[in-house]
Amino acid sequence: MYDLLVKGGTVLDRAQGISGKMDVAIAGGRVEAVEDTISDGKAKKTIDARGLIVSPGLIDIHTHVAWELVRLSIDPFVRCLLKGTTTAVDAGSTGELNYRGFEHYVIEASKTRILAFINIESLGMVEFADIKPGNTDQEWPSLLTRSKEKYAGMFISEENTERLIRDNPDKIVGIKWAHHGIKGMEKAREVGDSAGCRLMVENKFMPAAGVRLLKKGDIITHIFHDSFNANSGYVDGMCQDGTIPEEFFQMKKRGIIFDVGHGQGSFSWDVGELAFKEGLRPDTISSDLWSGNVKGPVYDLPTVMSKFLHLGMSLEDVFAAATSEAASAVGRRGKLGSLQPGRPADLAAFKIREGNFPMEDCYGEVRKMKRHIVPVHVVKGGELVLSNGKPVSS
Ligand SMILES: [Zn+2]
Repeated sequence: MYDLLVKGGTVLDRAQGISGKMDVAIAGGRVEAVEDTISDGKAKKTIDARGLIVSPGLIDIHTHVAWELVRLSIDPFVRCLLKGTTTAVDAGSTGELNYRGFEHYVIEASKTRILAFINIESLGMVEFADIKPGNTDQEWPSLLTRSKEKYAGMFISEENTERLIRDNPDKIVGIKWAHHGIKGMEKAREVGDSAGCRLMVENKFMPAAGVRLLKKGDIITHIFHDSFNANSGYVDGMCQDGTIPEEFFQMKKRGIIFDVGHGQGSFSWDVGELAFKEGLRPDTISSDLWSGNVKGPVYDLPTVMSKFLHLGMSLEDVFAAATSEAASAVGRRGKLGSLQPGRPADLAAFKIREGNFPMEDCYGEVRKMKRHIVPVHVVKGGELVLSNGKPVSS
């Protein structure tokens, strides 16, 4: 007898090569069977998924979920799990000094599976002092920096960061570099090499200085942000004077992973359209959800995925970029991002709403999307947490 049967939906599971109508049976918190037809007489409970897309639980490889610990963070239950994201990867909200608290109070207590990039800076992102939409001043308190490079060496410990990574291979998937100067990125490279882990770096100081530090399997996030960063005074990003520098094509060839990381200030419709025209599509679609963007322009991961449907990706590719490709990017191929029998029963069913949905980027540009992906049912570890769009109280 199965615990749960998800019946009649269109299953999109790139890792198994499935794109079509299938039933999914769950027992003991794991996927038991994915077959053309499974009788609902064999299950204690059946979810009617007719007309819905059934996907492995989404994996959002760029979030900030050190909830109640680092102020920019969001609630991983409400903002991730109830939206279909069964695995949220925190992108450097904490560093070696505060990761343990994050692990104890959030990761271990959370229904959402949480993995983490550890920030190369020991305190992670505690410096976000004033979280209001429109305030993206991310500088360290001036007392600590005093330089244009915004590099505070005493807040990086190569030794402790490396030890933390080695001690936590089940939860820490790599090192995050963000915001604070090329010296910090060089340190991230050193520690990444000695600990044998990937980097996730922001699309800044590119291509001039940052590109040379990236290796195959590293992730460059905020890939479609607009070019000039007025705060730093640097030319950032993929698009410069309406063209894409050759370095970005080279990066793609070298196997560097292009990640969306939409965020409050890192997705431009214009840059996305240019990149798609030039054949530079994202490998992974992530949200960069934090407290400053949950009420727009990000909203949630399915909305970010909808933007990439609008840019011309197929439904199959959009779901792969937030499931199987995302799992691979953080070293979890074979464990997450698929409904293969034996895997944890993390899945979500989505409605593809059709109509005209005006949707903004981070710079006030609006496009009218024809489709919007909306979560309807979510199952985590075999437990139904969202049913017909409503949270299930437990
Ligand atoms: Zn971020």
